Amino acid sequence: MPTNLERAKLVIDSRRENAELSAEKRRLELETVSPELKEINQKISRAGLDALKAIGAGADSANLIQNLAKQNLALQAKRTEILASLGLPADALDVHYTCPICEDMGVKDGYYCECLKALVKQFQFENLCSCAPAKGSTFANFSLDYYKGEARERMEQIYNYCKSWAADFDRNSNSILMYGQTGLGKTHLSLAIANEVVAKGYNVIYASSGNLFNKLEKESFGRLKTDESPEEAVLTCDLLILDDLGSEFTKPYVVAELYNIINSRLLSGLPTIISTNLLYDEIGDKYNPRVYSRLIGDYQMLEFLGSDIRQLKS
Ligand SMILES: [Zn+2]
Repeated sequence: MPTNLERAKLVIDSRRENAELSAEKRRLELETVSPELKEINQKISRAGLDALKAIGAGADSANLIQNLAKQNLALQAKRTEILASLGLPADALDVHYTCPICEDMGVKDGYYCECLKALVKQFQFENLCSCAPAKGSTFANFSLDYYKGEARERMEQIYNYCKSWAADFDRNSNSILMYGQTGLGKTHLSLAIANEVVAKGYNVIYASSGNLFNKLEKESFGRLKTDESPEEAVLTCDLLILDDLGSEFTKPYVVAELYNIINSRLLSGLPTIISTNLLYDEIGDKYNPRVYSRLIGDYQMLEFLGSDIRQLKS
């Protein structure tokens, strides 16, 4: 499996190739329409070659470059004229890169360009978000109608809390534990948050507990820890949403890694949302007291109430 960085580089490479190919295609088409344009294009490239040859032959390069620049300007001006006569803008023959900053190289001044970083983040999110149709769950389509009485009141508070939490999100937002029986909308609300926070440009990892620990365990063997490792992504993303904690196969690796994730992210001040069907006390029993005390001490607890919505709907 290629890493997210490798995948991102491949995408950028193909963006660049496509941009250059279509510029080349455009040039050939226009040259068929206008032989005059073809001639000037040939002159421009010949002028460049002549200059190289002359420098190779030991000509006075400063003088030569000056002459070349003058000549080139004149040829460019002529070309702009021809393009205008065809009803085209001056940059009609330029390569139109997706990212004008790095011209689809992925690197600018020795640093990874933002366009490459954005792709890596997108892949991190997609890789781990294989648990639910993320786009379908929004605040707008979360219905409170399924909750009655006390549950309705509580869920209205929770809904409003989550909505403003997402609206005010930044890297210093508090962490949240959503708990309660299955089918009360925990996944829906956490996905709604994920969608909003992603739309703001933050780097979100959404993963079901089973998927996440499987993936982390698989990749932690026989591999050096790098900036691109999944664990690093989980520990440093702007928002981690760990869905359905307790559904994974619990073993010492999971207990240790869960504590590591919760603790590291709290120490870095990064927000995490955990949802679970486990009862409050079961969390302490199943994992370890340190996990339990971290959650109680530092997470906003949201207890979901009601009857299973999926049953009510059907
Ligand atoms: Zn770029």
